[in-house]
Amino acid sequence: MIRTRIAPSPTGFLHLGTARTALYSWAYARHHGGQFVLRIEDTDVARSTQDSVDQILASMHWLGLDYDEGPVYQMQRLERYQAVAEQLIAEGKAYRCYATPEELEAMKAGQEARGEKRRYDGRWRPEPGKVLPSPPAGVSPVVRFKNPLDGEVVWQDLVKGEIRIGNREIDDLILVRPDGVPTYNFAVVVDDWDMKISHVFRGDEHINNTPWQINLFNALGAPLPQFGHMPVILGDDGQKLSKRRGAVSVTAYEEAGYLPEAMLNYLARLGWSHGNDEIFGRDQLVAWFDGTHLSKSPAQWDPAKLEWVNAQYLKAATGERLAALVLPRLAARGLEVPSEAPVAAQCDLFKERCSTLEQLADWLAAYYGDVQVPEAERAQHLTEAVRPAVHALAAALKEAEWTPAGVSAAFKSVLAAHGLKMPQLAIPVRVAAFGRSQTPAIDQCLALFNQKILMERLQSV
Ligand code: GLU
Repeated sequence: MIRTRIAPSPTGFLHLGTARTALYSWAYARHHGGQFVLRIEDTDVARSTQDSVDQILASMHWLGLDYDEGPVYQMQRLERYQAVAEQLIAEGKAYRCYATPEELEAMKAGQEARGEKRRYDGRWRPEPGKVLPSPPAGVSPVVRFKNPLDGEVVWQDLVKGEIRIGNREIDDLILVRPDGVPTYNFAVVVDDWDMKISHVFRGDEHINNTPWQINLFNALGAPLPQFGHMPVILGDDGQKLSKRRGAVSVTAYEEAGYLPEAMLNYLARLGWSHGNDEIFGRDQLVAWFDGTHLSKSPAQWDPAKLEWVNAQYLKAATGERLAALVLPRLAARGLEVPSEAPVAAQCDLFKERCSTLEQLADWLAAYYGDVQVPEAERAQHLTEAVRPAVHALAAALKEAEWTPAGVSAAFKSVLAAHGLKMPQLAIPVRVAAFGRSQTPAIDQCLALFNQKILMERLQSV
């Protein structure tokens, strides 16, 4: 059975890179009728928070990445890691090391000074015929893995192809810290083994950890999963996407008004492709995602492209759905929306012009709160000359049937009476009503106003 997992550390929001890995792991499992597991890697006790766990779970839910097992918390499995460590010690595959951090630092500084690579020198590693010092009093030992000294670790990476690393490059990994908490590399192996993970997708910052992990799997007699290491996501400056260069959390994009299916679609294309297909949904992704066509080179985060994708999904969404998503955004601005207000129709009218829900809320805000007319627009469009016609329109609208046709008729009568052409009146009215000189069809825009509010707005020009 294909079993994949995502294993975020709860030290912040769900990062876009982790979300993409989660998406690929999820899609791979779903494509093969397998299972997808969520594991929370919370062994960095000082940095892990419940708030972060909540954010991660919420983002997974928002993206629609459902899991078959989990969340499993590593800190609830400490006994299991300790038992496996004891087993490895008993089998001579791991050992206790009593070197203090200061001692190790001095040793590594010496190596560096001699131009050597910093690495653990194996001082507590048991070997046949080697006499070890007696454990010093008062030092809590770490448990170290007895990494093979010779040979190579070779694996066929699902993304990068064959990777080889000589065991001479790798030192004896710490498995368990003095406080009994396992290191990432140890816990991840025990967990992937216990959870019967068949395919591990993760960021390529972990590529150097994989040889240790493979040696550990082998030492445990555990079946090896397949590994796929995803290249990093770069910002538009060619540097690794990071907080300093803009939003990197799924939550930030949710807040900015992106739709989850747009995010999913965009993330899917960021490092994987299916021909030239650009807009596709979850089911399509699952049908296509067989682990091939994963890109070896870093993907570039492209905010403009994401906006474009989001705009496509906004256009396709129903007014009802958009209304439900925009209402909380209006409430957050302190705007009260009467229950009978035609919010769905307003969303349908403006969605074509928007690429985020926030932009949609910007438009709708004109219906429910005061409009700030930029000074330049006011000076250019709300002139003395046009004011009588705008007031006449307000009066005509008062009597009008409250439909686009009724609004249109009111316009016609005022245009005729004042000898104006449509844009000469429509643009000032747009500016007065929305604070903008361009809007969708004016008769449709106005007919969705509360009649009284519009009247007052036009009269106050
Ligand atoms: N907790 C690790 C991370 O968030 C997981 C790496 C892995 O998938 O093995 O980077």
